Amino acid sequence: MQKRVAQAGSELARFIEQHPRLWVITGAGVSTDSGIPDYRDEAGQWKRPPPVQHGDFMASPSVRQRYWARALVGFQALREAKPGGAHKALAALEAMGYIERLVTQNVDRLHQRAGSRRVIDLHGRADLVKCMRCGYQMMRHAMHSEMARMNPAFAALDATHAPDGDADLETDFSTFRVFDCPRCHGILKPDVVYYGDVVPVERRLAAEAGLKSAQAVLAVGTSLMVFSGYRFCREAHAMGLPIASLSLGVTRADALLTHQWQAPLTPVLTYAVEQLASHQRALDTQGLSASQNRQGASRSSGSA
Ligand SMILES: [Zn+2]
Repeated sequence: MQKRVAQAGSELARFIEQHPRLWVITGAGVSTDSGIPDYRDEAGQWKRPPPVQHGDFMASPSVRQRYWARALVGFQALREAKPGGAHKALAALEAMGYIERLVTQNVDRLHQRAGSRRVIDLHGRADLVKCMRCGYQMMRHAMHSEMARMNPAFAALDATHAPDGDADLETDFSTFRVFDCPRCHGILKPDVVYYGDVVPVERRLAAEAGLKSAQAVLAVGTSLMVFSGYRFCREAHAMGLPIASLSLGVTRADALLTHQWQAPLTPVLTYAVEQLASHQRALDTQGLSASQNRQGASRSSGSA
């Protein structure tokens, strides 16, 4: 394992030095160390029932009762999660100037909490809720507090935490009282792109714009099974950009990849960051300017 990590980490560092403006896409794999479960196994298959569909959520009061009752239990995991090693390593890469854009399919905001700034939350953020009628927004924890007050019996339940603030709770949800928009009584929904919904166009265009000024794509901890993420790899491939993937399993984009490391994320990313930092330090002591550093670093990485 140590050898595999060192080899993948060195190769990744070299990849970054050769393409120092990266367009990064991340998925559930970067957050599993933070205690947030993911949906898919290493073969990219569902390992639990798929999440709620947008159309069902909007159409059915009973789907919303079940959703919010389970969220009252499961959202704690999302709320209390702390950034993990992969988030920190990616924030370090940004601080070193290597990240053009970081597009995440996660809704947990852990990249931002680790210090990343150039982030696009492709699928939205789970800590906000939005009225589907009037657009009113509120923090999700405030809505949860209201619902806990309205449903004391449900608030006392516990169950195994599931992805996206869900929980494996099964009971009669018909008495659960859902908190509606305080302004218009419309349906409140997490500000998250559900399956069956589409990414807002301005967000997709912002992510695409980043691709145009990047030199390569690095996918981290994602199977790219969801089309909204996979499409960028197809575009990058059409643009002739190299595409690398670091994940534990297969990806939908395997045929498009120029580099692939099937290895644990945090040790490999951390190894690469340390190697890049030591190359930069070595060049700094030689008194080279920042722009020369990059060129020199990519030349010297061959012997590392
Ligand atoms: Zn409203």
